[in-house]
Amino acid sequence: MPAIQRRKSVPVNVGGVWIGGEHPIVVQSMTNTDTADVAATVNQVMELARAGSEIVRVTVNTEEAARAVPKIVETLDQFGVRVPIVGDFHYNGHILLRKYPDCARALAKYRINPGNVNIGKKHDENFRTMIEAALEFDRPVRIGVNWGSLDQALLTRMMDENARLEQPRSSQEVMIDAIVASALNSAKTAESYGLAPNRIVLSAKVSSVPDLIQVYRKLAAECEYALHLGLTEAGLGVKGIVATTAALSILLQEGIGDTIRASLTPLPNGDRTEEVFVCQQILQSLGLRNFTPQVTACPGCGRTTSTFFQEMADQIQTYLRQQMPVWKTRYAGVEELKVAVMGCVVNGPGESKHANLGISLPGTFEEPVAPVYVDGRLLKTLRGDHIVAEFIQILNDYVERKYAVAVAETPQGVGL
Ligand code: SF4
Repeated sequence: MPAIQRRKSVPVNVGGVWIGGEHPIVVQSMTNTDTADVAATVNQVMELARAGSEIVRVTVNTEEAARAVPKIVETLDQFGVRVPIVGDFHYNGHILLRKYPDCARALAKYRINPGNVNIGKKHDENFRTMIEAALEFDRPVRIGVNWGSLDQALLTRMMDENARLEQPRSSQEVMIDAIVASALNSAKTAESYGLAPNRIVLSAKVSSVPDLIQVYRKLAAECEYALHLGLTEAGLGVKGIVATTAALSILLQEGIGDTIRASLTPLPNGDRTEEVFVCQQILQSLGLRNFTPQVTACPGCGRTTSTFFQEMADQIQTYLRQQMPVWKTRYAGVEELKVAVMGCVVNGPGESKHANLGISLPGTFEEPVAPVYVDGRLLKTLRGDHIVAEFIQILNDYVERKYAVAVAETPQGVGL
């Protein structure tokens, strides 16, 4: 697989995790708890970090939330969870960062939305106050434009200028340019206040896949700031995952993007960690990073009339994911392991031989035996009622034998 040429960007240190430059693309996520609820937020941050989120963002929308932030970070620290916490500010960030210095200090980065820093003539003053807080506490910022809260004064001005052209462009094109201009102008203004480029991450999110691709191609061409990539309001279920994957994959394949987030809408009481796994899977599928051993499984067809092989593939995938928090501290490189669970003899042996470890289950009318291949060679043939347990034992032995080198430290500093 040819290596993807990453776009050149200025690396930014966010609480010990590097975004941009030559550093691996960072996976991040955001809580949906009330930040003022310290226990709920700590629990969710821990879940997200345990799932592999390398940075976690929390909303800081009220005075109670700002007061809770230092307690959240302190409690996480007591549990040994060192994931950097980013504060998401809208409307009143300039007030909260000034009034609650402990909050400003506890956060690893501030997200500023230039579209709602404040309205009217106070915009520059409030933006400046937030940048000054970043300078005082030596913190980076993400200037995060979102088309749902785009700077209306800028958009109106650009629309007016466009209307005066002999051949005006479409309003969609002007809006895309306004999103890009809002991000770049704000970054330049932050620099004029003294913030260095290595303290600035940019994002400019929209909810349409083609628009997002255009926006980020423009941003990538016009600056070297580290870029945070994400499709905003991606949505529920399959739609959210597919739209996010489509958008991010195209850009990542072009080398654009230094950190990613999947803005999925979970079902009520749904699992927030799904957004982390989606990001990891995108990066792993593109060959950009490895997070967890991969299970190759065939889709099944009329040759597999029982659900046994689907259940086995699911059990193996779940088992691998459950082992990873411990395995990644004990077995160097285990995340590159490839396991195949195949439904019948047609592609089973062939695919199994391409994996580190593969099992070809018997299809309908086939002899009830399951050959196991290790590094391309037939190791043994399993049969009977304990195939899954025996395969897991072979898997454990393989991991112990092949990867048993203590991992000195994780490349990006999530201490769990
Ligand atoms: S490997 Fe066998 S069971 Fe699986 S999809 Fe192919 S033919 Fe069907």
